[in-house]
Amino acid sequence: MTDAARPALSVVAPCFDEEGVLPEFLARVATVLDGLAGSSEIVVVDDGSRDGTWRVMTEAAARDRRIVAVRLMRNHGHQLALTAGLSICRGERVLIIDADLQDPPELLPEMMALMDAGADVVYGQRRVRAGESLFKRSTAAAFYRVIGRMTEVDIPLDAGDFRLLSRRVLDMLLAMPERHRFIRGMVAWIGGRQVPIAYDRAPRAAGESKYPLSKMIRFAADAITAFSVVPLMLSMTIGWMMAAVGFAFFVYSIVGWLTHSTLPGWASLMAAIGLLGGMQFLMLGVIGAYLGRLYDQSKGRPLFLIRDIVGGGGSPGGAP
Ligand code: UDP
Ligand code: MG
Repeated sequence: MTDAARPALSVVAPCFDEEGVLPEFLARVATVLDGLAGSSEIVVVDDGSRDGTWRVMTEAAARDRRIVAVRLMRNHGHQLALTAGLSICRGERVLIIDADLQDPPELLPEMMALMDAGADVVYGQRRVRAGESLFKRSTAAAFYRVIGRMTEVDIPLDAGDFRLLSRRVLDMLLAMPERHRFIRGMVAWIGGRQVPIAYDRAPRAAGESKYPLSKMIRFAADAITAFSVVPLMLSMTIGWMMAAVGFAFFVYSIVGWLTHSTLPGWASLMAAIGLLGGMQFLMLGVIGAYLGRLYDQSKGRPLFLIRDIVGGGGSPGGAP
């Protein structure tokens, strides 16, 4: 594709069961885009939704030629759905945004101005998170701090995937073939001039969070394993500690044997077995977490599978 054919801006939003918010989302984004100079497109990705999300998208795409509706074969998860949208979009710049309107599209002109001033990435940093439970906010806060300590990459605190990327950064991101993607970390890893922009996170406009605790845990595990080998090294630290304790016990038992004062020792034996057994299984689990991801990666399967692309002017299966 020639550069001339590129729109100036793409907006990419992954959507899973978002029929409730999509009309409002598309309307608000369209209004923002109307106010910008240059051509643009909105790429919405239906991540295997079970509700009317696809219908809403295709109807919108028939009305507005800027809208490109992409449907995946099944639910691939937030990060892969986003990756699908990013690899399809053609803009010189790309705005990543959630469809639930927690991130305000109205911030776009300000983000564009920061990029005009030379930023490669402009990322939204949350000042307040309205309408989210104390549990969600505290686990998220803990998560960003733990990952900050474990990784060498400076992953910005309290930033989601809401950000504006230059085409250069986007192409670098798309060249990274990893399957278990933690996109905000990968973007931070790329470097360049990354500029924060503070905003207040609104409550969801409709529907409920598509990130239940189980998905949050998986997401956190992907983030940590993708950016740190500290957990793998943990067994070394624990091993040294255990070895020191074991050596002390060894001396103690020899002395006891020599002085004929050996104890019945049931409690200490059980404690040692329990502790050692627990630690060993824990570390096996850690190794398994990395090994499993290595295995997934080695299969080299595509990251996502596209079923349909509709709209955007003459795509396969699409409206005009
Ligand atoms: N999402 C997705 N696939 C999933 C889960 C979520 O495409 O399997 C989308 C969802 O539609 C939304 C974004 O990812 O646009 C963020 O999800 P959500 O708002 O539910 O997460 P939260 O803001 O509660 O962390
Ligand atoms: Mg949300």
